[in-house]
Amino acid sequence: MSARLLLLPGDGIGPEVMAEAERVLECLKTHHGLAVEWSFGLIGGAAIDAHNDPLPAETLEAAQAADATLLGAVGGPKWEAIERALRPERGLLRIRSEMGLYANLRPAMLFSELAAASSLRPELVADLDILIVRELTGGIYFGQPRGIREENGERVGYNTEVYSESEIERIARSAFEAARKRDRRVCSVDKANVLECSELWREVVTRVAADYPDCTLSHMYVDNAAMQLVRAPKQFDVVVTGNLFGDILSDIAAMLTGSIGMLPSASLNARGQGLYEPVHGSAPDIAGQGKANPLATILSLAMLLRHSLDRGDLAERVESAVGSVLASGLRTADLAGDQSKPVSTQAMGDAVVAQLQS
Ligand code: NAD
Repeated sequence: MSARLLLLPGDGIGPEVMAEAERVLECLKTHHGLAVEWSFGLIGGAAIDAHNDPLPAETLEAAQAADATLLGAVGGPKWEAIERALRPERGLLRIRSEMGLYANLRPAMLFSELAAASSLRPELVADLDILIVRELTGGIYFGQPRGIREENGERVGYNTEVYSESEIERIARSAFEAARKRDRRVCSVDKANVLECSELWREVVTRVAADYPDCTLSHMYVDNAAMQLVRAPKQFDVVVTGNLFGDILSDIAAMLTGSIGMLPSASLNARGQGLYEPVHGSAPDIAGQGKANPLATILSLAMLLRHSLDRGDLAERVESAVGSVLASGLRTADLAGDQSKPVSTQAMGDAVVAQLQS
């Protein structure tokens, strides 16, 4: 049976980078026997223009019926004056929450050819390959009570860090399952020396680890984890953590890789469905100029193959095709620096497809 995918190009450079990912998909279907069908949908500004809604019902239905969804990017100056509830980014927030996407997987991979782009010394980051698994639908961003109240004649702001055992258990399982597709090492990050919520987190993650005897589990306080990520990032394989800590640590890890045009991400739900998307936005400053780097979207497709279609073999082929193209010296403008002449979005896609065919 063929897997069913939904492609949502979105706005700005979204359609440009998606076109290259679609060519990679076509190549996998034609040359590597991937059984897959796909259709397109509207989201973000493109959906506002057509339906006055950043997430039309038919897009949500199509995403719910698909095995996985690949998204380009949403947003842009054209829609910035619209009321907040109808903005393009609202479409993205809604699809995440409607689909219950609680596990956010953010890899930080650094192809050795790009090590010079990192803010760290090349030997610390060359061939870096870590995965941050962030809980996305709970914790302090959603906890009740929250608000600002009057107390003793002044205003007091408050939020609540809250995690139930079941929420911790399911994100821990996502992390161990992902680790099984990698080096089988999970580091759980918390603040158990100060927060009761973290104490429970640590206890539940430790309990879940017993179901994964083939994986090793370690624990680290979040302040130390932030330090270790910039001191010796290659010590990590999978890092699992809550919403707030994950928000911060995944951005630190992203910066280790130097370029936003290279970073894929995935968000998964309990039914194994995923939304895969580059970390970058719609880059209105370069949209329509053929300058966008399509590799983050192509690497998001590789994640889709691995995590939603269980085709780690094809994911590795795509990742190694990207590595070979970079090794051959090809660079889009965001990666080129002063040394090399940049190639277009399409030329980068051509090169990846050519590698996959060879
Ligand atoms: P951005 O990621 O779009 O761009 C930041 C900078 O990185 C720009 O200079 C851009 O040219 C560059 N860049 C981004 N992706 C690139 C790529 N693939 N290749 C080469 N260069 C790339 O962030 P922003 O400028 O803050 O936001 C622009 C719009 O995108 C806004 O409307 C914002 O709301 C939206 N946005 C959407 C998402 C998403 O769809 N997931 C994420 C972030 C921002």
